[in-house]
Amino acid sequence: MSGAFADLVGQDEAVQTLRRAAAAAAAVLRATGELETAGSADPGGGMTHAWIFTGPPGSGRSVAARAFAAALQCLQGTGCGGCPGCHTTLAGTHADVRLVVPEGLSIGVNEMRALVLRAASTPSAGRWQVVIIEDADRLTEAAGNALLKAVEEPPPRTVFLLCAPSTHPDDISVTIRSRCRVVPLRQPAAEAVAEVLVGRDGIAPDVARWTAAATQGHVGRARRLARDPQARARRAAVLAVPRRLTGVGAAFDAASALIEAAEAEAEASVAEIDAAERAALETALGAGGTGRGAAGAARGTAGQLKELERRQKSRATRAQRDALDRALVDLAAFYRDALTVALGAPVTPVHSDTADMAEAGARSWQAEGALRRLEAVLTCRSAIEANVKPRIAVEAMMLALWKG
Ligand SMILES: [Zn+2]
Repeated sequence: MSGAFADLVGQDEAVQTLRRAAAAAAAVLRATGELETAGSADPGGGMTHAWIFTGPPGSGRSVAARAFAAALQCLQGTGCGGCPGCHTTLAGTHADVRLVVPEGLSIGVNEMRALVLRAASTPSAGRWQVVIIEDADRLTEAAGNALLKAVEEPPPRTVFLLCAPSTHPDDISVTIRSRCRVVPLRQPAAEAVAEVLVGRDGIAPDVARWTAAATQGHVGRARRLARDPQARARRAAVLAVPRRLTGVGAAFDAASALIEAAEAEAEASVAEIDAAERAALETALGAGGTGRGAAGAARGTAGQLKELERRQKSRATRAQRDALDRALVDLAAFYRDALTVALGAPVTPVHSDTADMAEAGARSWQAEGALRRLEAVLTCRSAIEANVKPRIAVEAMMLALWKG
C-alpha cells in the first residue's frame, strides 16, 4: 500500500472506507471549483464531519486519523502521499490540521473551547479545517459538552476526527457517538507488523518476528523493542517477576521494583520537555526583570509558573501510568501463555523467550491457577484505571500472583 495510508498496517477495510469518504469530500470541493483534478462523485462515499476511530492500543487509531486528514487536504483529493497537502499534514505542519494530544490525565474544557472556536474559522487553504483528538476518552465531561456543541452544529468545512479505544459510553458519550461515523480498527496480525518492520525500518526478519509477537501487534512498541536496549531490559525485568515471587517479602520487593521502574521510565520521558517548557516560559515572562511594573509582572509570573507545574505534574502522572500499564500488559501475556499451555491450546506464545518458564508454571499451577494469576494482573490494571493508588494495586497483585 502506498500514499498517505501506507502506515496503516493490516487495516484494509478501514482504508477502503476512508478512501471512499476522501473521494466524496473531493467531490464537494470540485462542485465549488476548488479542486480541479478529475474524479467521479461518489454519493455513497459517506463523507461526514465527525468520525471516531476505535481499536485497541497499537491498532493505529491516530495513524488512521492523520492519514485521513492528509487525504482531505490532498491536492489530488486522494491522499497521494506526495503533494504538499499530504506532506504537511503527515508532518504535522498543515495550517488547517490541529492535533490535540492530551498530556495530562484528561482534556479540559478551556482547551476544548479554544479549539472549537478556532476550528470554526474558514480553512486558510480553502479545503477543510481538521481537528484530530487523540485519546478522546480522556475528555472531561465539560470538555465533552463543548465538543458536542460543535459536532451538533458543525461549521460547513470543519471535520472532527476522534480517537478512542471503543464506543463504550465510558470512552465516548452516547450523544457524541450518535453524531459520528465509526471506523473500527483491529489489532494487526503480528506477521503484518513484522513485515512493516522489515520493509520500512530495515529490522532483521527474526528480530521483527519476535518483537511483533512479544508486543502483540503494536507497531510502535515492536519497533522500540527491536531498536532500544533499554526497552528490552525493562521487558526482561518485568518477565522475571514470576520467578522472583518466593514469599511475602519478595512480593513486596517486586511491587516496589515495578513501580520504581515505571517512575524512572516516565521521568526520563518527560524530563527534557519539562525543562524546555520552563525555560521558554521564563524567557517569555522576562524573569528577573527589575524595571517599572516588575512587581506586578512577578505576581503574574508566579501564577503562570504554577499553572505550568500543575500541567507538568499531570503529564508525569500520566506517563507513569502508561509505563506501568505497558509492564502489566507484558506480565498478563506471560500468564496467558502459561494458561494456553495448561489447556493444551495450539497457539503460539506471546513471549517466545519465556516459553520454558510458562511451561513450568503451567505444570505447577494447572489451568485454574494460571487463570487466577492472569485475572490478578487484569484486576490490577482495572484498579489503576479506576484511580486506585498504583502501589496499592500492584502490591495486591503481587501477593495474589505469589499465593495463586
Ligand atoms: Zn496528496
